[in-house]
Amino acid sequence: MGESQLSGKVALVTGASSGIGAATARALAAAGAAVAIGARRADRLQELAEQIEQAGGRVLRLDLDVTDERSAVSAVQRTVDELGRIDVVVNAAGLMLLGPIVDGSTEDWRRMMTTNVLGLMYVTHAAIPHLVEQGSGDVINISSVAGRTAKPGSGVYNASKWAVNAFSESLRQEVTAKGVRITLIEPGAVDTELNDRITDEEAKAASKKSYDSMRTLHAEDVAAAIVYTVTQPDHVAVNEILIRPTDQPTP
Ligand code: NDP
Repeated sequence: MGESQLSGKVALVTGASSGIGAATARALAAAGAAVAIGARRADRLQELAEQIEQAGGRVLRLDLDVTDERSAVSAVQRTVDELGRIDVVVNAAGLMLLGPIVDGSTEDWRRMMTTNVLGLMYVTHAAIPHLVEQGSGDVINISSVAGRTAKPGSGVYNASKWAVNAFSESLRQEVTAKGVRITLIEPGAVDTELNDRITDEEAKAASKKSYDSMRTLHAEDVAAAIVYTVTQPDHVAVNEILIRPTDQPTP
């Protein structure tokens, strides 16, 4: 390990089995943090854990479904019990099930709202007392440019990210004077598995076409913004980072 800015710190990353979560777990580990990695696909977590360990990092795998509050509580508890503390929570688990509101799939809506909103809230609710008690720590919530500008065909995704923004800002005001920092990360297009899960075939094709039309961000670019955030001195709170591909003119 070259850097060790985060040595002695413990980070819990949700949605760590792919994309932004996986890259963030790798980057935080490379910066010296012990990382607890949570998601549902155990095989992918196993692969990531091996990579991190081979690079000299310390890792705890967590079978985590953020939509189940007991699972979220248990992930936080195991992190504290097995890695000794918790300093950083990265809420990266999420779904972007694009499609129009008119005749849209309410099942997609439920999955998105439960994962992107309630899931993020459950994990945060379970972790925040530990951070407040120690008087330090970071909660990094992955929102999106879709949390700032609504578009046709992404109304419920927009709504879920708007909810993340409101929840994060309210929480920030509750805990910042207690030493706990809350950060909203708002990426534009990032090359991950996010598009693959869209169930509306037309929306999926349109989104993939849009991503293919530009040099997208890589998950590592977003991870670097997160490492920047959590390595600031204690008195500096980076509240919000909007990060788009240079090639992305529209929301
Ligand atoms: P990926 O699809 O690559 O990653 C999503 C992650 O979320 C996976 O690890 C998945 O793991 C996890 N996840 C989904 N549902 C659950 C659940 N119920 N419990 C636990 N984990 C879950 O996409 P990204 O990395 O791109 O997405 C990460 C976040 O970034 C999302 O919130 C997304 O909205 C946001 N974002 C992404 C952008 C992009 O262009 N890619 C742009 C702006 C924001 P598993 O299925 O194994 O549980």
